[in-house]
Amino acid sequence: MINVKDIFNILDQQSRPVLYEKVLLKEAVGRLLVKPVQSPMDSPPFDKSAMDGWAIRKDEKSTILRSIATVAAGDASTVIIEPGTCAAIMTGAKVPEGTGRVIRIEYSHREGDSVVIDKDDPLINIIGRGENIRKGDPALTPRILSAGDMGILASMGIAQVEVAIAPSIGIVTTGTELKDPGEELKDGEIYNSNGPQLMAQADIWGCPVHYYGIVADDREALRNTVHQALRENDIVLLSGGVSMGEFDYVPGILEEEGVTKIFHKAAIKPGRPLWFGKNENTFVFGLPGNPVSTFILFEVFVKYLIQKLCGLNYEPAFLRGVLGESITRKTWDRTEFLPVKWVDEEVVPVRYHGSSHLNAMAEAKGLIVVEAGIEKVEKGETVHVRLL
Ligand code: AMP
Ligand code: MG
Repeated sequence: MINVKDIFNILDQQSRPVLYEKVLLKEAVGRLLVKPVQSPMDSPPFDKSAMDGWAIRKDEKSTILRSIATVAAGDASTVIIEPGTCAAIMTGAKVPEGTGRVIRIEYSHREGDSVVIDKDDPLINIIGRGENIRKGDPALTPRILSAGDMGILASMGIAQVEVAIAPSIGIVTTGTELKDPGEELKDGEIYNSNGPQLMAQADIWGCPVHYYGIVADDREALRNTVHQALRENDIVLLSGGVSMGEFDYVPGILEEEGVTKIFHKAAIKPGRPLWFGKNENTFVFGLPGNPVSTFILFEVFVKYLIQKLCGLNYEPAFLRGVLGESITRKTWDRTEFLPVKWVDEEVVPVRYHGSSHLNAMAEAKGLIVVEAGIEKVEKGETVHVRLL
């Protein structure tokens, strides 16, 4: 059995030429930004008012002022603020020359033609040119682009962003017992949850997905589908059929189809039967069919490979937390990925009775990794939660 460290070492050695494409912002969420983005401009591009109020000189002594202009957001006023004068200014408007500060409107009142400042504003209320970011400064580091990143890119006038073309992923779910949701189950059958789940996991990461549906545990049918999937994808994920059962044909067929095994069986829990190999163009994961295994193996290893193939060094987000109940393991020869949630600010394993207990994942907010060799993790210990 291969251990987790060696699996990551193997995945680290994999690469392929990274291809890029420019996409519009509305298509960029979830895509992989590999090259850092610098700001092409100062933002904001001018000194602007943070308040509705009165633009005055910095050293203005008088509290009774004459208003010489009204400046709306979008105006480029040419007036100059001299001592004793002010301009009515709106939030977001460019401050006129001579402005040193803005007194918010609530601190003033009008008396005829004059503006009376009732209370000194403790703040300057001006957002300086380039205060958010200066031209040429780093704006985004490599990452999976989020909705918030769209705002940041747009604020710098960037309409298109260059992202890696993620590897295409083919998904084959094996099992004679499987039916797709929407169909009626016959006695002995269960619903195919891995198919929709793996498709969604791959899709969230911007990978083009090809779904080959359910393939029965039948050598010929499986061979045909594997043959096609290998031709059409950069990564093929098979679920089920990689263990020791009489109908677990996946490892044999993969090797017959020219995929070289790199490892089979890993010291991990869940997911011990994991199979990994490749041919010239395609990487293949044989994932055990138990749904929690499939989910976690994608999160931990398939994602890692996707990023690697896109030239990103993957760093999943972790939060530190205090363990709310002790974890005692019956066996500790494998590295365990344990689904957890937060209860009263403490990290607690979800009630989970094994890798087929998919409903437990509804509660899980993250995974903690209990290394091989560790029998017990005590209540009160600090744990690192990998967020899901
Ligand atoms: P296997 O890895 O094929 O031995 O399957 C292990 C367990 O996972 C069995 O109980 C299967 O019925 C179940 N299983 C296999 N594939 C799926 C799937 N696509 N969706 C849900 N459960 C599955
Ligand atoms: Mg099976």
